[in-house]
Amino acid sequence: MSEYFPLFQKIDAQRRILVIGGGSVATAKIEALRPHAPYLTVKSLAFREDLENMLRKENIAFAKGAYHPDDLENIAIVIAATNDRSLNETIKKQANQKGILVNCVDDRALCDFIFPALVRRGSLQIAISTAGISPVLARLVKRSVETLFPANFSDVIDFLQSKRKIVIETLSSLQPRRLFWEKFISSGAIDQILKGNKRKAEQIFNKFLRSQDRGDNAALYLIGAGCGDPDLITVKAVQLLSRADVVLYDRLVAPELLERYARKDAEKIEVGKKRGKHHMKQNDIDHLIARYLRQGKIIARLKGGDPGIFGHASEEIEIAKINNAAWEIVPGITAAVGCAAHSGIPLTERGRSKSLRIMTLYEDDVYDDGFWRSLASARGETFVFYMSIKHKTLICQKLIEAGLSADTPIMAVEQGTTSEHREYAATLESFPVLYGETSFMSPTLFIVGDVVRYRSEHGWREEKTGLKASFFDYPSLETPDGGKIYAYS
Ligand code: SAH
Repeated sequence: MSEYFPLFQKIDAQRRILVIGGGSVATAKIEALRPHAPYLTVKSLAFREDLENMLRKENIAFAKGAYHPDDLENIAIVIAATNDRSLNETIKKQANQKGILVNCVDDRALCDFIFPALVRRGSLQIAISTAGISPVLARLVKRSVETLFPANFSDVIDFLQSKRKIVIETLSSLQPRRLFWEKFISSGAIDQILKGNKRKAEQIFNKFLRSQDRGDNAALYLIGAGCGDPDLITVKAVQLLSRADVVLYDRLVAPELLERYARKDAEKIEVGKKRGKHHMKQNDIDHLIARYLRQGKIIARLKGGDPGIFGHASEEIEIAKINNAAWEIVPGITAAVGCAAHSGIPLTERGRSKSLRIMTLYEDDVYDDGFWRSLASARGETFVFYMSIKHKTLICQKLIEAGLSADTPIMAVEQGTTSEHREYAATLESFPVLYGETSFMSPTLFIVGDVVRYRSEHGWREEKTGLKASFFDYPSLETPDGGKIYAYS
């Protein structure tokens, strides 16, 4: 087994690309390598006429003759494009002995590296690979990426290159410089360059450079990461996350989000809280936030779901205020909303529910009958219980005792919206029988209310477990001893 590691190889006069071959295969390769003409050498016993013309026209170094190990002098990579496999093998062996990587065209077994599908606009290069599994897919991906960048996009790169020096001289430290570039690149200046209005772009550049803060940019962004599926994050969250110097993230945050949107050089610290496991206490998190703010850092405090729902938001905002730092809350899709949507359930719906209560159970509530009665008396309400796995049976019993109908639907959603999303639907009466002994994995929430019936009516995905969405369509059967069997397929 092997894998492909992506990188961009440096080439120059001492590290050239050598192509061996002069037929049609070599011609196609050399065509693709034309942008690197100054550092390309071609060697072959004979050349096709059109190839030879191209080599001359592009000023590409070439020599006629048989391959010789001396050809490997000052070479970084070799492309063996002869139609003689044993010669290709010899080339590979000798090149590898010198630490030179070889690509044998159309002969994967002899390849140390493969070429990606490439989208190229001057120095902007986007390489696409499926590790050779599907060149067609790679080509289709390339095609859609191509459409994102107008042909003259290289003008943008040239403009940025021409301004690097002055920006480094004006903004000597890294963070203000990065913020400046971010602001400039996401302003309308890029569009102006693409339209050919370089002077307008210059004006924006000068204005931004003059006004860029050189000093304290400390900020705390409380960012909602959504509840499991990494695609459930907002555009604003992505923008601020990718600006952060430090990312403090919860256990519930999808790991893909950090990989996709956080800066490579950002410090990433898990501050997850998990019952019973080693964890960082809120107090420690607060200290950490204060420390980074004092260092002038931009902190993304990335929280599962929405930062304002059971997220200690106000405590952390207080730290920003004490430290005179900017702060902002970026909303996210809270678990109740995400899980319900994934299950095809609208949380309020005319005729079934006119309000929604997002809640958790504090120890005082659990044994307070008045509390349960108040829930039961709220007609037509959907309840979503967070952080309540250990009270799952109690919720059912107490709600029935308090007067809610025993056939009120309840559904547990485990690891909602992730690839491990599981649903367990029942009624308040049957839930303890069916799932009382089930150890739900964290995170799990419970939705109680008539709207849960929509699940069977709106099912839109194939079920993971054998438990069909149609549980409510099956009647419960009385057993001879008066118990009940709940039928589901
Ligand atoms: N701020 C988060 C909630 C944090 S409290 C939000 O807005 O979603 C943690 C609780 O949220 C968990 O105990 C669980 O009840 C619920 N939860 C979070 N993500 C979940 C998910 N993907 N599936 C089911 N429940 C989830």
